[in-house]
Amino acid sequence: MADYQLIIIGGGLSGLAAGIRAARFGLKTLILEQHSLPGGLNSYYYRHGFLLETGLHAMTNYAQAGDRHAPLSRLFRQLKLSRKRFTTHQQFSSLIRFPDVSLQFSNDLALLTEEVGHHFPHCRAAFARLVTAVRAYDPFAPAPWRSTRHFLGEIIPDRLLIDMLLLPLMVYGNSEEHDMDLGQFVIMFQALFLEGFFRPHGTMKDFLAMLVEHYKGYDGELRYRAKVESVERQGDRVRGVQLAGGDFISCDTLLSTVGVPGTAALVDWPPQADKYEGRMSFVESISVLPMARKESLAADHTIIFYNSGPTLAYCRPPTAINADWGVICFPENFQDLPATDVFQVRITNAANYHIWRQASRQEYQRLKADCEALTFARVSEIIGNYHENRVYHDSFTPLTIERFTAKAQGAVYGSPIKIKDGVTPYSNLFMAGTDQGFLGIVGAMLSGVTIVNQRILK
Ligand SMILES: Cc1cc2nc3c(=O)[nH]c(=O)nc-3n(C[C@H](O)[C@H](O)[C@H](O)COP(=O)(O)OP(=O)(O)OC[C@H]3O[C@@H](n4cnc5c(N)ncnc54)[C@H](O)[C@@H]3O)c2cc1C
Repeated sequence: MADYQLIIIGGGLSGLAAGIRAARFGLKTLILEQHSLPGGLNSYYYRHGFLLETGLHAMTNYAQAGDRHAPLSRLFRQLKLSRKRFTTHQQFSSLIRFPDVSLQFSNDLALLTEEVGHHFPHCRAAFARLVTAVRAYDPFAPAPWRSTRHFLGEIIPDRLLIDMLLLPLMVYGNSEEHDMDLGQFVIMFQALFLEGFFRPHGTMKDFLAMLVEHYKGYDGELRYRAKVESVERQGDRVRGVQLAGGDFISCDTLLSTVGVPGTAALVDWPPQADKYEGRMSFVESISVLPMARKESLAADHTIIFYNSGPTLAYCRPPTAINADWGVICFPENFQDLPATDVFQVRITNAANYHIWRQASRQEYQRLKADCEALTFARVSEIIGNYHENRVYHDSFTPLTIERFTAKAQGAVYGSPIKIKDGVTPYSNLFMAGTDQGFLGIVGAMLSGVTIVNQRILK
């Protein structure tokens, strides 16, 4: 008999959600996490007495507790978590800012509809048709890759509006450059524009602790500092995993949440692993300021998606970062958040992994300082001087992301090729998480639950 019915590689959000779902149905389940904390891309750390979150700008897919059909409510039901006791704080509004025009949106689609009608009156009817088409499209039905740009071009007669709508959807969840798969576009459009942003009450640390406790309540086991070094197999089945310390643990089924390249490094699959490597990575700059600065910097906006040029070039830049477009997030600027002493400004810019990889230790620090200056030059034009009175600053790069999550080339959104059915060439090895196709916190958790339902519990 195997040691475990199910082993899950990775204690990120997809792994934790998959673990809860499987343990809840009585499977003897073990999650193996290489680090000493859960959460993966969305974890936390302490610096100078501040609790900093690695990922969280906002959660997507906002839904009222009573909206039983919304993805967030379905997720909570599947995990047997109380949606009513999960307090959420909605965004105020967010802004898509291009040089000559800005569009506001909130968790009420009416605002974006009104903004589009106001700034692009000739696209009013086209935008309504787009919303109808998105609502009617099933992004989970098996379908070949379809160009979103082509699809949008047939509906919306204005390239600027297309780029403006694509900016938030791409920067929060597109692993491809320039274009995105239509199914992914529909998932993101629904998550951001039809449902919207919120923050859970408390910190990411609290949220993760709640998930871990819930998992353990179903007798799920979780080992930290347990790096899987290889996957043992026999013919078309995997037998178990070999840990870095030398332990071998056997299992009936293995679920990997570490992406296609990460999984391919553990077991011989797939034949051309490099075509699964994503190219989109980012530098994240985190500034901590006194709360008194909030009014002057954030105003009514929770997130600002900005582009300084007339068109959007969503791609890996040829330079260390591209500060010409990006995201400015104010994580303390959600509705009804309890008062805190400090206020953060988080800025995300696209980055070139190879330039960071090739830098010597000394050059790496210099690059960080240079990039911070580039980001400041662009972002201070939009929100003002966010360096003034700054009490702490940190930044992380594609190398940080790679080191802490094993995402090849620090590709936050994983591979441009998704394994939507979670199936691999091995009959008892499945994929969940970023490379299965759902992205973001809610998406990663839905992915874990879906693959357990479809492939493991069935
Ligand atoms: C800067 C940044 C900002 C973000 N902001 C947001 C946001 O505001 N809202 C949002 O919804 N999403 C956000 N995301 C995206 C979100 O964090 C991810 O989509 C989601 O957390 C992915 O979860 P996952 O479980 O698929 O993968 P991961 O989080 O990557 O989890 C995989 C886990 O596997 C572990 N692992 C890897 N290899 C091994 C091994 N060999 N052995 C054992 N363990 C291993 C890793 O340590 C990691 O914990 C952000 C991400 C980043 C980087």
